[in-house]
Amino acid sequence: VFNFAAGPATLPENVLLKAQSDLYNWHGSGMSVMEMSHRGRDFRSIIEKAEVDLRTLLNIPENYAVLFLQGGATTQFAAIPLNLCRPDDTVDYLVTGSWGDKAFKEAQKYCKPKVIWSGKSEKYVSVPLCDGLEQSANAKYLHLCANETIYGVEFKDYPVPSNPSGVLVADMSSNFCSKPVDVTEFGLIYAGAQKNVGPAGVCIVIVRKDLLGNAQELTPVMLDYKIHAENNSLYNTPPCFGIYMCGLVFEDLLKQGGLEEVEKKNKKKAGILYNAIDESTGFYKCPVEKSVRSLMNVPFTLEKSELEAEFLREAAKEKMVELKGHRSVGGIRASIYNAMPLDGVDKLVAFMKDFQSRHA
Ligand code: PLP
Repeated sequence: VFNFAAGPATLPENVLLKAQSDLYNWHGSGMSVMEMSHRGRDFRSIIEKAEVDLRTLLNIPENYAVLFLQGGATTQFAAIPLNLCRPDDTVDYLVTGSWGDKAFKEAQKYCKPKVIWSGKSEKYVSVPLCDGLEQSANAKYLHLCANETIYGVEFKDYPVPSNPSGVLVADMSSNFCSKPVDVTEFGLIYAGAQKNVGPAGVCIVIVRKDLLGNAQELTPVMLDYKIHAENNSLYNTPPCFGIYMCGLVFEDLLKQGGLEEVEKKNKKKAGILYNAIDESTGFYKCPVEKSVRSLMNVPFTLEKSELEAEFLREAAKEKMVELKGHRSVGGIRASIYNAMPLDGVDKLVAFMKDFQSRHA
């Protein structure tokens, strides 16, 4: 099947086959990665290589720590304010969809967050211009969601915090490793793995080292980034198998030529799908402003909304699954992460045209 799910999502076939062949006996160790001590030499080599490969892919400088954590991006919604500010500190949030909104609401428990831009009244179809944002003078950080998975809205460039000692923080869960990113623009980047780089259960945090060590006193040990950084993500038992899978994906992305090449493929796939929508003379519609349309999640509706259920049924029969829009917005959503082959997008577009010709 071609799996268009928003996450957990499709993984590269060669990565899954490699994991299958390693499953019972990793590199002649006689053990599965699932059975290994996380403190043993074998697993240490796995996590160290995963980190090195991710650093190469994203060109992560030495003054940033890379952490492999648990609890998903949702846990970072709390960990970020707990680590980066005091209860009375102001921080700014850009709300370009449901995930940014959830991050803001969680931060309210730990500091004084302020929404300085929200796309809610327009149903989240755009992002703010980077220049001219009215930021709080003393904001410790400016938080944004780089790609809103539900609404399909993606930042193409990023604002600079106006407070010289403030930092930019980004949730990159749904576009992590889909294109090159200048890590030095950010104080902290975080991403759940289960869309582009692995299975659910791993959350990656990339954080500038000088920001560590200031966690609020009540911060649970598991949410204190400094503790994880000092222990190379091995303070407690990490999600070993998930980290191993992420490592295989990083290796695969490097083999593909790195993130410049990956971005080219993603632009091509997204271009084909958005063109098909735009050229359907209104039969299909994508509400998102063209300049900020996501390369990863393509939401669209049918002019005749009563046909959506039929569209999904027929697509599933043709082995194209998980195309239903998020339960909060309805419609259709095709998630076309790195691992979605061009063939999958071509097949979807051919199906869309055929469906239109039969129902227009
Ligand atoms: N942020 C974004 C952009 C997401 O797409 C998701 C999940 O879909 C989350 C956060 C929440 O991630 P998790 O379920 O790993 O906590």
